[in-house]
Amino acid sequence: MTEDYYEILGVNKSASDAELKSAFKKAARKFHPDNSDTGDEDKFKKVGEAYEVLKDPQKRQIYDQYGAEGLKGAGGFGGAGGFSGFEGFGGAGGFEDLGDIFSSFFGGGFSGAGGRSQNRPSRGHDHEVAIQIDFLDPINDTEKKIRLNPLEICDACDGKGAENESDITTCSTCGGTGQVTSVQNTIFGQVRQNSTCPTCGGTGKEIKNPCKSCKGRGYKRVDKEIDVKIPAGIQDGTTMRLSGMGDIGKNGGPRGDIYLTIRVREHSKFKREVSDIFSTLKLGLAEAALGYEVTVPTIHGDEKLKIKSGTQSGQVYTIKDAGMPLLNRKNTRGNHYVEVDVVIPSNLSREEKKLLEEFQKLRRGQDIEV
Ligand SMILES: [Zn+2]
Ligand SMILES: [Zn+2]
Repeated sequence: MTEDYYEILGVNKSASDAELKSAFKKAARKFHPDNSDTGDEDKFKKVGEAYEVLKDPQKRQIYDQYGAEGLKGAGGFGGAGGFSGFEGFGGAGGFEDLGDIFSSFFGGGFSGAGGRSQNRPSRGHDHEVAIQIDFLDPINDTEKKIRLNPLEICDACDGKGAENESDITTCSTCGGTGQVTSVQNTIFGQVRQNSTCPTCGGTGKEIKNPCKSCKGRGYKRVDKEIDVKIPAGIQDGTTMRLSGMGDIGKNGGPRGDIYLTIRVREHSKFKREVSDIFSTLKLGLAEAALGYEVTVPTIHGDEKLKIKSGTQSGQVYTIKDAGMPLLNRKNTRGNHYVEVDVVIPSNLSREEKKLLEEFQKLRRGQDIEV
């Protein structure tokens, strides 16, 4: 609770402006988050808050009389006005934006980790690939060739990036560390900032004669064709993950994956729903009425189907286990459903017409229902 601004800055109540400023600089340096020994973001903010008040004679007077509570009503801070920003920062924003102010001022984040990731292992990128397979392919396991273009270690230079081993030297800018440290003089004193070496890009090496095949990168894209087993029963739109077939990782990181999406072509006769197959059988008036034995195609070959007399349009016949196998359960198949479509002839010959009229007379309109 006791947040004495004087205590925070380490000065006594009669401190002069010059003493305050000097104390502020000292404390800010000490608690600056970039300071790896004594850095403390919260304390750093407190120091700023304390100085913001005490450097202003009017606010200091209110604070001396009423404490920080007194300033809340005075529109000094915490309200819409907020802090004007530190001296020298040109009012870069409210106090909440301290992190932003510092990052723009020092050209880096609080962590100062800027760009150290260059030499860190990183996972290779994933790729998305799609292939089309035929409608009937999923009856069995099939092998398909797919074309890939993954990033691989350059075979010409073995990943070294140089034409010859002797062309690789330690980077003279960073001495092989991959990092450069810049020192900036600020109102807090000197601030050190690490960043990626601009000469070597963080590798710590300089290559005099870069490998022509990979332009010195040590990696290059390679055209590849691989065989992929597409399992029986696979459905349209399924995505398979081919683990570790994507880009090679950097600095020993793991390879990326391939996401292979299967597109199943349509069929002129069959429709499919999961493992069930659907088809339509057109029948004549007489076959539907009298019954008939018909040969119907299934995805496994022709099947004989007995149509019972009195079959109606829309009636469905089931050929058991003549569908697709289930994925990962090859011995379990779906069914084949045959829907009957009774065709009413519209091109009757004279003789057919006569016979039908005869039939109509015998029927005496008994099928008519309104
Ligand atoms: Zn370097
Ligand atoms: Zn190369």
